[in-house]
Order: sequence, then C-alpha cells, then structure tokens
Amino acid sequence: PQGAGLPGLSASKLIKTQTKEPKTMLPNNELLFGKTFSDHMLTIEWDNKNGWHAPELKPYGKLELDPSCTVFHYAVECFEGLKAYKDKDGKIRLFRPDMNMKRLARSCERLTLPAFDQSELLELIKEFCRTDERWIPNERGYSLYIRPTVIATQESLGVGASSRALLFVIASPVGPYYKTGFAAVSLYGTDHYTRAWPGGTGDAKIGANYAPGIRPQIEVAQDGYQQNLWLFGEEQWITEVGTMNFFLFWKNAQGERELITPPLDGTILPGVTRDSILSLARQWNEFKVTESKLSMFEVAKAIEEGRVIEMFGAGTAAIVSPIKRIHSKGKDLNIPLDPSDKAQQAGPLTRRLADTIMGIQYGEIPHKWSVVV
Ligand code: PMP
Repeated sequence: PQGAGLPGLSASKLIKTQTKEPKTMLPNNELLFGKTFSDHMLTIEWDNKNGWHAPELKPYGKLELDPSCTVFHYAVECFEGLKAYKDKDGKIRLFRPDMNMKRLARSCERLTLPAFDQSELLELIKEFCRTDERWIPNERGYSLYIRPTVIATQESLGVGASSRALLFVIASPVGPYYKTGFAAVSLYGTDHYTRAWPGGTGDAKIGANYAPGIRPQIEVAQDGYQQNLWLFGEEQWITEVGTMNFFLFWKNAQGERELITPPLDGTILPGVTRDSILSLARQWNEFKVTESKLSMFEVAKAIEEGRVIEMFGAGTAAIVSPIKRIHSKGKDLNIPLDPSDKAQQAGPLTRRLADTIMGIQYGEIPHKWSVVV
C-alpha cells in the first residue's frame, strides 16, 4: 500500500483548536439528513515524503484546494458513514466502528490512497465525538452521523497514485429515518443501468460508485418508485437496493424458512448492518440463514406463489427499510407486509432486527458491538 515505511497516523500528535463561535443548533424535529454540521472537523494531511502529518481538530470550515487536485478530475475519493449515539446515561456510543475503519482502509487501498493505522483514526474520531458531544442528540432514534472522507490532493493532472492526500471527518446530527413507524418502499427492478460488475469497485465505498446512481434514482422516482433494485446481467441477479444491502425472508424452493442475502462477490458493498443482521439471525438459529446469489426471476416466482414472507434493505441510515413492491418486467409485484398488524409497514422479522440493533446501538442491550467512547 501507499505510504508503507513513512510516519504513520498518530492520535497523540493531535492539535486542537476550539471554535470561538459555537453554532446554534436546530431543534431535533427539524433535523434533515446531512444538512447541518457540528462545530468542528478533523483534518489530517498526508504526503509521500513525510507520511501522515499531525492531525488537527479545528472549527468546521471550507477547504482550500488547487483546481488541479486529482480528486476533481479522476474522482480519487472514498468515504465512510457511521453514527454516534447517546445512551440514557449520557454516554457516547459508536456501533462497530472498527468495521468502518477496516472498510475505509480497503477503499483507500483500492484507490492507491495511503494506508493508515485504523485504531489511531478511531481514537481521533472518539476525541471528535467528545469535543462535539453537544451535537449528539440524546433522544432515542437520533444520532450524530460521522462522515470520514479521504481525497487525493496532488496538484497535477497526471493519472497516477497521488503524492498527497487529505483525510477529513465531518459530522451531522440526524433524526430517525422513520419518524412515525416504518414506511415501506417501492422499488424499480433496474437492469438498463448497472451499479457494479465483476472486477469493478462495487465492494468499495468510493464516491465514483455513487455519482452514476443519481440519475437512475431520479428517473424511477418520477414513476413513483423510491429506489432502484439493482439487477445484474441476463440472470437478473439481485445485488443491492439503492444504497442498501438486500434481504429476503421466504420459504425457499425446498419449503424451508430462510433469510437470504447476496454474497460478497465483489459487486456488493460489505455493509456493517448486513453483517450484523447475518450474525444475529445465525445466533437466533430459528431459520436458515444464507448468503447466496438470487435471481429476480426466482424472486418473482416466489412472490407469485406466496412464498415471500418479508423483504427489506439494510444500512446505517435506516437500519432496515421494508419493501412493499417491486416493478419487474412490466409488472408490479406486491410483497406482504405484516398481515397481523395493518398499521405496521414492516413484518415481524424486520421489526425484530430493527429493535435489536437499535437496542444495542443505544446501550439498552449490552453487546460488544456497542463501543463506549
Ligand atoms: N450498500 C451501499 C451501496 C451503501 O452505500 C451502503 C451504505 N454504506 C450500504 C450498502 C449499507 O452499508 P452499511 O450497513 O455499512 O451502512
């Protein structure tokens, strides 16, 4: 990896500058995802002569970059998304942050961005959380969304490994994805655009995977579908739902109750929520849990035969997002929600997973995944 043998990222070198102008905060009910940011930000520069410079925690503000920087031309950028929660005792908690550090390191490696010490970055993010503690809402369902980002800042138009980089972290207070119960989404089975492909970068969290997905999302939204269900190839392999991992709970062709999600074959982002759901479901040991390729043809048949029990997307933003409808091959296919509870737009398994994960995130269910800052 880039940077091997150069001075590493070190939390002990942190230079802290407290803001002199703390911002006014919005009331919780006015928070919109990623619109407002906390008082500070973390920046760490890197170059291929001096390695990682001293990290800085300083007032949130604009970056100044040369227009020739690699990031602006060749999209050499990757990022992460994780949340800080405040529990009922006022303690700050992160959910499996080591997974986000690991994924960021892998994304950097894919883009020849410099390697960094994952535990040092996590230490710095914890210090950032402590510094901007008042920005972590103390209401259940609310949190501080943390966005670590790495960009290539070499001032040159050459296409190559960047001699300079900037790692920065910003944070935005966010509300619950669903303010009043679950709202199930409709998907458009999209095969005329491709999010990721074998040998591509679908398994890395790089900005270049997201820019081309905006237009397909807007197009289906105009027809009343919230997200693309990304289908790959002639077999119509189900890959992901918008920017979430896909899960199906069904009675499979053998008549077994099974929770199934596509495998990490390189076209799927290895979601932290995905991994957590698989792990919880395997531990519950109440039904079969499978990572396996799943074709839209197979799923359409199962829907028509009444074998689909629940379907949902999974990701940090919503935890789980129930799916009520898929448009495929000119037809709208309806997915059952919870027949026992008409008011709830989510089935019992979807709700149980959301409750369990949220319980862990807010420290109500003791678990090693919840890391006290
Ligand atoms: N797939 C994609 C394409 C995503 O952008 C995300 C959000 N990071 C996910 C899945 C879900 O990942 P996680 O559970 O780590 O948020």
